[in-house]
Order: sequence, then C-alpha cells, then structure tokens
Amino acid sequence: MGLVYMDNTLAGTRPSLMAASKDVIQSVAILGATGTIGMQTLNVIAQHPERFQVFALTANSNIKSMLDLCLQYVPKYAVMLQPNAASELASQLKIHGLDTIVLHGEEALAEVAAHPQVDIVMAAIVGAAGLHPAMAAAHAGKRILLANKETLVMAGNLFMQAIEEGGATLLPIDSEHNAIFQVMPRQRSKNLAEIGVRRILLTASGGPFRNASLSEMQAVTRAEALNHPNWVMGPKITIDSASMMNKGLEVIEAHWLFNASAAQIDVIVHPQSVIHSMVEYSDGSVLAQLGNPDMRTPIAYGLGFPDRLESGVSSLDLLKIGRLDFSEPDLVRFPCLRLAYDALNAGGTAPAILNAANEIAVEAFLADQIRFMDIPSMIESVLAASQFESVTSTEQIVMVDADARFTARQWLKTHA
Ligand code: NAD
Ligand code: MG
Repeated sequence: MGLVYMDNTLAGTRPSLMAASKDVIQSVAILGATGTIGMQTLNVIAQHPERFQVFALTANSNIKSMLDLCLQYVPKYAVMLQPNAASELASQLKIHGLDTIVLHGEEALAEVAAHPQVDIVMAAIVGAAGLHPAMAAAHAGKRILLANKETLVMAGNLFMQAIEEGGATLLPIDSEHNAIFQVMPRQRSKNLAEIGVRRILLTASGGPFRNASLSEMQAVTRAEALNHPNWVMGPKITIDSASMMNKGLEVIEAHWLFNASAAQIDVIVHPQSVIHSMVEYSDGSVLAQLGNPDMRTPIAYGLGFPDRLESGVSSLDLLKIGRLDFSEPDLVRFPCLRLAYDALNAGGTAPAILNAANEIAVEAFLADQIRFMDIPSMIESVLAASQFESVTSTEQIVMVDADARFTARQWLKTHA
C-alpha cells in the first residue's frame, strides 16, 4: 500500500486538512531552508502571510544564510546540523534580540519535523541526510512536501508505509511528480491499469550535454556540468541532471509514488522543460501539466492543496516558446539512466546502493577527483560488487548506505 495522499487528501475525506486549508494559519517546518528549494518555499510563504507561518528552519552549516532567514521569518526553532554553526548562530541571534531556539544535530532535525505544533514539513535536504527527518515527519502524520527524492530511492517501501501508518499526507514537489500527481486519477490502486492508466511519460530536459558527443562528455569540466540550461538548482541535483542520474532517481521515485512498474515509466527528452510530465490513459488520452520551469509552481501546489495559490510564477508564453521538441534518451551517453532502471528492476537495496555510490561519485566529480564519465563507471562497479537484500528497516538502509559509500571510496583510491 502506500499512496495515502491519493485518497486521504481528497477534498472532503480528511476534515483536518479541510479545516487547515483556509481559515487557520498553518505552521511550516522547512528542512534545508538555505537551499534552492528551501528559499523558493520561503518566497511562496512570504506571499501568503495570512495562511502560513514559519515554525522551524534547518540547514547544514551556512550561518550567514540562516541568520538572514531567521531575521526575516522569526521562526520558533532554527536547527543547524553542525554544533559549531549552531552555537555561532545562537550568539548572533542573541545580538539581534531574537529568541529563536537553536538546536543542532540529526536528532534535532527529526524533532522539529515531528513537532506537535507543525502542520507542514517541506523535506528539502539534499541526499541521504534527508531520510531520517522525512521518516520522522511521516510517522508523525504531517503534510509532507517531498523534494528530497533520495528518501524514496533509498527506502521507498518503508517511507510509503510510514506515510500510511502515520496518517501523513504526501505531496510530491519534484516538478515531474507534481505534474503526474496533478493529472493522475484521484482514486488509487495497486495496479495502474485498474484506474485506466497505461503509462507515465516522465519528461527530461536532457541537461547541458544533451547534444554533446561521448568524447566531448569525457572531457567536460565542473563548470560546464554545473551550467543547467533550464533550472537553477543545488550543485548535487545539477550534476545529476547533467548525467541524467536525476531522471533515473525520478523513475524510482515515480515507481513508489504511483505504483508504476519500471516498464510503465517512459523517459522522454523534452529540452524546453515546459511539459513537466504526462500520464497516458487506456483510451489513448494523454494528460500533461505545463508551465514555466519554476519550482514555485509545485511548491505552491503542495502548500495550498487542494486550493490553488498565487506563486509569483509568470504566465506561460507558448507563442514565444513556439515549439516543443521530443527525443529518445541516449543510454550510451547517459548510462546513469540505464543503471537506475537496472537497480529498480533488481529491487531491494539496489536503489539505495545506487544512490550512495552516486552521492560519492558526484562529490568526487565536484572536488575534481574524477572525470564526468567516471560517475557511471564508479556506480556500476559498486553495484556489481554489492549484494542486494530485501528492505526491512531504516537501520538496515543506513548500513547499506554506509557500506556502499565505503566501496565507492575504495574505487576512488584505485581510480582517482
Ligand atoms: P541545495 O544544495 O540547494 O540545498 C540543500 C539544503 O540541505 C541546504 O539547506 C543545506 O544546508 C541542507 N543540507 C545539506 N546537507 C545536509 C545534511 N547533511 N544535513 C542536514 N541538512 C543538509 O539543494 P536543492 O537543490 O534545494 O535540493 C534539495 C532536494 O530537493 C534534493 O533532494 C533535490 O534532489 C530535490 N529537488 C530539487 C529541485 C530544485 O529545483 N532545486 C527540484 C526537484 C527536486
Ligand atoms: Mg525533477
């Protein structure tokens, strides 16, 4: 089971949600507040002071950004992962006369995510670090706006189960999954065919190397890989977009969110990023969600659901865009996409291993330790050296993640 949000968030089925939607101010915890998604969430919230208040902000170590955000949004809690950053932030806040409570560490992230006074949790930490607090929010029955796709890649079955058992509401923020959610039928089923759906068409921009040759891709620089044509995002997801691992992770994400098999999820390269994804029905109808590539649209959708909120995103000018193009992804130049499909088909802990190896590979590429096309090579080696088990607990996933990182670092020692 899992797609609790499909039936439970439907207008009229959950009194708590309905009451929360208009007249009561909702309290929001933003995990990863200093990041790209965190800041865009705050931008949308700032447009609706009558609906939302910021209860907690969290970040890794960026004191300056966190201080600015605290001064602007005056949260009750601020959490820094790093203890030194937390004590520095606390003294800065004192100087400014703010009584925001400053906490630090992983447990504190989970604590604010599950805090009884929190209604909405924006899960926008990057990478595996987002798993623990997202699980805490799920168990605590929050409305979760999920940007951190790694949670679903690593532990999709556990997370969907926690959502259901905790009575939480899950709204996907990844633009593709938000688009699919918007055009999916509202009833849910274990089987897409039962609800009249043939397949999901997941669109991909193709990233900065869409038209590069394999030999060019072998020589690309960090700056070139960080230069995404359509979206402004954090460094990790930007590299993932250049390698198309991002699309691979999104295939796995779609599998868990929508009960779709790998064979029911097709990736289509669409360089304009105007169609954010599509759902094909059994009668041949294809429903799409379109808009400018601006994450404030899915964020506003998640915050306001089932209402529509002003997001600050400008109108889509199709006449100016003129044309929409489509092509097939090239699995030779983008082996990461193939590896993700393979991991999904292998099942169990394979996607968690893929994710861990990818995080180490991206880190190493950003540190100029390996070349761009070493990213898939490293991931493939780590997967080949690993055994896959069925997923039983988050503790197991944390260990599998650590083991895969260790294997990836061993690979680095011999190849970097
Ligand atoms: P980012 O790098 O801009 O921000 C990451 C945030 O997480 C920062 O606030 C940082 O302080 C915090 N963080 C980093 N490491 C941490 C750790 N170990 N513990 C606690 N906090 C930590 O990333 P982003 O682009 O905002 O992406 C965030 C998530 O949203 C990612 O999972 C990404 O895949 C997903 N996402 C992003 C976009 C986008 O447009 N940026 C789109 C779809 C999905
Ligand atoms: Mg996406």
